[in-house]
Amino acid sequence: MSRGRTGRALAEEAGREPARVPGSGSAAQAGKAPAEEAGREPARVPGPLPLSRGELRQILEELTGEQEAELFARARRKAQEGFGRGIYLRGLLEISNYCRNNCYYCGLRRDNRQLERYRLSREEILDCCQAAYQAGFRTFVLQGGEDPVQGPDWVEETVGQIRDRYPQCAITLSLGEHSRETYRRWREAGADRYLLRHETAEPKHYERLHPPEQSLQRRKECLWKLKELGYQTGSGIMVGSPGQGLEQIYRDLEFLWELQPEMIGIGPFLPQHQTPFSGEKPGSLTVTLRLLALLRLLFPRVLLPATTALATLDTGGRNRGILAGANVVMPNISPVKNRKNYALYDGKASNGAEAVEGLALLREELRQIGYVPSMERGDYHV
Ligand code: SAM
Ligand code: SF4
Repeated sequence: MSRGRTGRALAEEAGREPARVPGSGSAAQAGKAPAEEAGREPARVPGPLPLSRGELRQILEELTGEQEAELFARARRKAQEGFGRGIYLRGLLEISNYCRNNCYYCGLRRDNRQLERYRLSREEILDCCQAAYQAGFRTFVLQGGEDPVQGPDWVEETVGQIRDRYPQCAITLSLGEHSRETYRRWREAGADRYLLRHETAEPKHYERLHPPEQSLQRRKECLWKLKELGYQTGSGIMVGSPGQGLEQIYRDLEFLWELQPEMIGIGPFLPQHQTPFSGEKPGSLTVTLRLLALLRLLFPRVLLPATTALATLDTGGRNRGILAGANVVMPNISPVKNRKNYALYDGKASNGAEAVEGLALLREELRQIGYVPSMERGDYHV
């Protein structure tokens, strides 16, 4: 591969505007598209992914150190064109570690009997939002397992109360798979965004990561429903999950290109000792960073976090993610006593600069690489 080829191909092809086909796509199937109702442009239907399998292999496996530095610099410039030197902060509130699902990789899976379970009360959630608001946060992310006790009504009421108290803040949910009607009610109650990683777009790989009762098709359908309902929608994958190779990542990029999400969450897979994947290898730092850079070039405006998993894998992971094109950080705003039990993977970073009480440290660490925290809502609609 010549150096120029990778760079030029990415710059040209990633910058290409997706073809616009008004009136087609999944939004149109639902009658009046929510985007239109909200006065936004109708959804765009992109052409094929502007990246070949060979180019993906070059980027993930064959770059020299110099070429990698060039890739990161390009991604960084692209992020700075859209967002300047600001890194959006989102407060991450882990509302329950009960889950009805049994994903093989996750410590919250229902068969993990060793985990001490908790769920936050509505009052605790509102208290955490209050503390985060006072610290300057303007986005609250409510994440949790699929906890039947925190059901549709309970979440609707909770979202409504947060919306009433903080009309100017964004509310993001990350509570797994639900019916269209439930997503609709939560949206009407005031939720703006939804994070639901597809985890892998390749059916056999999905079966390797999940028990038979969970389905890739249902996961994807949820994402399309969220889009139709006008949520700023986030999807993504774990990098280096067991069974993942280049082909799986390529299929993930194709799916993301088709979905055109507003947010993309990727972080390394990290083993958790109480799961069936306890003995598996963690994902690679290099591949995660290169994939972040590639995503930035393919999706210039997307909200792209430097994830907690990346900061857990490598002490400098957060900053390295930002220097590879990430533009979001999600400090933990959960009660300190509960954090250790939101044990998705071993060693999860949830203190210091990864948490609300470490904001001054985070600010300083960002300053050292030439960035500043941004407390703006930072909305984005495709
Ligand atoms: N239950 C919701 C769901 O699955 O979408 C939201 C919470 S779930 C814990 C959030 C994300 O954590 C998952 O989408 C998954 O990618 C990530 N995760 C779970 N276990 C992990 C692990 N062992 N290593 C890295 N990421 C993990
Ligand atoms: Fe539950 Fe989400 Fe963990 Fe799967 S990844 S077990 S759905 S919390």
